Amino acid sequence: MSSVFYDQAQIAHWLDSRTVARARDYVHAVSKLRWQDNVLSGEVQGTARRPYTVDVQFYDTADGLWAESECSCPVGYDCKHAAALLIAGLERMPKPQPGL
Ligand SMILES: [Zn+2]
Repeated sequence: MSSVFYDQAQIAHWLDSRTVARARDYVHAVSKLRWQDNVLSGEVQGTARRPYTVDVQFYDTADGLWAESECSCPVGYDCKHAAALLIAGLERMPKPQPGL
């Protein structure tokens, strides 16, 4: 469980909308999704035989929530795998309960 909440618009802001658009094809390939404190991590099956491991760390800044990604793919960060992980996290994230 995590207290980090973000939305689709923030993903496009942290990465960029083109990366997010390309990540759509990889959302289904995200596995082992898990939260540990303010870090979201998982594996994304890309074109390589072995899945890439992705971590996204969340920070509170003066400008709001910020996310810093790290991926084992050749790009290394802010890649479509990180975007796919963020989208998967968003889709599988439990919604805040009314009254809490
Ligand atoms: Zn990557």
